[in-house]
Amino acid sequence: MSTETVADQMLLNLNAAELEAVQALQQEMGLEDPAAVMHALLRQAAQRALVVCPSCGHSAHRTTGDDASCASCMSVLHLSDGIWQVISLQA
Ligand SMILES: [Zn+2]
Repeated sequence: MSTETVADQMLLNLNAAELEAVQALQQEMGLEDPAAVMHALLRQAAQRALVVCPSCGHSAHRTTGDDASCASCMSVLHLSDGIWQVISLQA
């Protein structure tokens, strides 16, 4: 299943108010179709939610707003000026 199909299915499941919001955002963001809005929103949400460990490149998970830990290399990460930095390496 392609991501296009997933976005289309998500659009089909929106209620009237949500669909209206997507259409407003489409205009606001200057995107060509509602599915592109879903892709853009997902990307933005993912960037906020997902942390990539600068030490090993695996995804780390947030512990608090500005802190995260990597389960792969056990690094403790801290968000500083919008950049995730390793503050401690646990051997
Ligand atoms: Zn790591």
